[in-house]
Amino acid sequence: MAKKEFHTAVCPHCHHKWTYKEKLLGYMIKPRSRTRCPNCKEYIEPSTKSVVFEYIALALLIISIVFIVPNLPILNSTRIIIVLFLFFVYTFIFVPLTVRFEEIHYNIKDKSNEKGN
Ligand SMILES: [Zn+2]
Repeated sequence: MAKKEFHTAVCPHCHHKWTYKEKLLGYMIKPRSRTRCPNCKEYIEPSTKSVVFEYIALALLIISIVFIVPNLPILNSTRIIIVLFLFFVYTFIFVPLTVRFEEIHYNIKDKSNEKGN
């Protein structure tokens, strides 16, 4: 395994390394298709791998909130704190640390060459 850099989100166009704040404001709170590099303003998208990681984490988050937390033998106020904590970890720690970007590849050229019968 190669050494992993702390900054996982690097722009594929200008190689700008996204800061934590840029990832939070420019990626987390925006629709995924509207992600733009804050340095070169090119549209970029998260790589397939980081989207898969994101969905797995989101699935685990939902499973925890719906099935595990309500069945814990604890006070309701403690349950709310746990749910908020899980959201916090997902939004502010997990996604900003795992996201990777790649260029958007459009296949318009390939499709225009095909002739339907
Ligand atoms: Zn860029």
